[in-house]
Order: sequence, then structure tokens, then C-alpha cells
Amino acid sequence: MAMAETFWKSRLTDIDACLSGVARGKVRRLAVSAGGRDIHVVEYGEKEDFGRRANYGSACGAGNPEHYARKVKDAKPVLLIVGGVHGGELEGIVAVVNLIRLLETGEDYRGRRHDELVEHARRFRLLLIPCMNPDGRARLPVDTLIDVPHDEFVYYMQGTWKDGTLCSWPACKAVHPIKDAADFLGSYFNDDGVNLMHDNFFAPMARETAALLELVDEEAPDFTVQLHGGANTDIHLYPIYFLPPYVMRKQQAFNQQLADAYKMRGLPFALTDQLAPYGETYPAPSFNLASAIHHACGGMSFTFESNMGLAAPGTKLTPDEILDSHFVLFEEMFRFSLGPEGTGEYGRSMV
Ligand SMILES: [Zn+2]
Repeated sequence: MAMAETFWKSRLTDIDACLSGVARGKVRRLAVSAGGRDIHVVEYGEKEDFGRRANYGSACGAGNPEHYARKVKDAKPVLLIVGGVHGGELEGIVAVVNLIRLLETGEDYRGRRHDELVEHARRFRLLLIPCMNPDGRARLPVDTLIDVPHDEFVYYMQGTWKDGTLCSWPACKAVHPIKDAADFLGSYFNDDGVNLMHDNFFAPMARETAALLELVDEEAPDFTVQLHGGANTDIHLYPIYFLPPYVMRKQQAFNQQLADAYKMRGLPFALTDQLAPYGETYPAPSFNLASAIHHACGGMSFTFESNMGLAAPGTKLTPDEILDSHFVLFEEMFRFSLGPEGTGEYGRSMV
């Protein structure tokens, strides 16, 4: 990719530079990574008092999630957007940094306006994390995966085993934490070799995971999206398992809305089945970070898979298209959360 693409802000120093310009939002250190790196969250919109008396699970046990978060009709929906859970998946980092720039200045780093998005943003409490796994990002020696060949991409993401062979996906999940089994530790992992996506959520190994789940518990987000990179596949939402059926239906409704939006923009989107049956055969699918986030707060929780523009077969988007595809996602999250004619019907998880 030409270095002229100055909007491609994927370095940890780019994040710092962006955050140092934040005036409308509030920057807060969320956690320190295993490798001693700061993880920040940027907040827009005041935190409202939901009258918490219990955690989400206990409130459900009492038969009323309002004991956890009582969200009145005009409460601002809470949206959480998380980039860089896999530190080398740069597309989401670039997107969150550009979104922050937009909310601060009215233009993204390309100088483009997204007035509807900015207007809608005021109606939410937004929690934006540019990079949840800075250790993984720091280990990636390049600033873009655009035009990177497939094997090199696998090396950067999942790393190598002790014998030097590539640690591919999903075999990279067979050892966890992977640190002692790896030669080159891929950018998937924090410095302790933990893949945050598959931490032990009942006793988190990584302080990154613990901090994210604590944030979710405190904030009661109605809608969380983690931004991932899905190689050269069409853009899609990875299916999330172990959600209650009514949440799965809501997730599928959003999936369909997103499919329509990408079609209108001429961007390639694959409609996955968020209602796919599971659990009747062995092994069961994984209860991952996206599932855990729902169970900590009751909200919708997605794993967004971006196209990565690799030099490999499949779909290959340009850097511009990759950023645009994230702005489409953000816009549709806002629209969906505001509901038909802004009724907020879908927006608040507790209503
Ligand atoms: Zn990922």
C-alpha cells in the first residue's frame, strides 16, 4: 500500500496521537496489558445511573434485569466498539481511530464528513476502545496487511510453533496460553500468550479480558461489537453461540439490516445465520468473548469480520473500502439502536 494513505492510522503511536487530540470525549485508561502497555477507552455522552442493585445474572435470577440496569424510555443507548482484540487485525484499529477523529473534528482522517453519523452519535453513550490488545499490535512489524501474501499473514497473526511450522487458524487455539509452545508469538496473543477471544471467562487469565468484562458489567452496553479481520472473505458477522433465542433473533435482524446497507453501497457482505441451531452434536461451538459479553450485561454482542485486502485469493478490498465498510457498520448500529422512526424499540436491551 502506498504510504500516501495517511488515514491508515494503525500504530500504537497513531492511537496516542489521536487520543491526545480528544476534547469532546473523555479518555480513560482502562487497563495495562500483560506487556505493560496502556489500553484506553474514549467515552462520549454522560454515564447514566441505571439504579444498579445486582449483577446481570442475579437480576435475571430474580426475574427482572432492571435490578441490574433500569433503562427508562429516554435513556441513551450504550454502544461499545472494541478494536484490536487480535492486535494484528489492523482494520478495526484504523476504523476506531478514524471514528474518534470524526467525532472530534467532523471529518475522518481522509477529510471526509459523515454528518448523519455525527448527528446520531449524540444520541448515545459511546465507549470506543481503539486497541484492546496492544501487545499483539506491538509484535506486528508492519503497519498494514494490504497486499501481504497469505502465508506471511498467517505468520504475523498466529505465529509459529517451536519447530518453526506455521501456527494456523484454528489450530492456534489448541494450546492456550500458547506462549511456551510458540517460537514466534503471533499478534493474536497478548505477551502472556493469551488469545482474549478464548480466555477463561469464569476466571480470566488476562487482565485485558478482566478489564473489558468489568467495563461491560459497569456500563450495561446495549450493543457491543468487536472489530476483527477475516482475511479475504466477504465482510460478515461471525455467528455467536450460547445466546438466548430472543437475542439471536435480534442479532439476525441486525445482520439482515447490515446486508441491505452493504448491498446499497456495493460492498461485499456474506449473510451468516445468527440463528443456526447448535448443541445437538458434539463438540459444541465455543463460548467465546462475544458470548461472555452478552452474559455479563444482557446486550447484543457481535464479532464483525472485516475484509483485509491481502494478496491472496478471495475478495480484496482497498484501504478506502475497508474504512468505508466500518463506517457503514457504525451507521447501521446507530440506526438499529434508534429503532423504527427512532423509537428506540431495539436499542435498549432492558426494554
Ligand atoms: Zn480476530
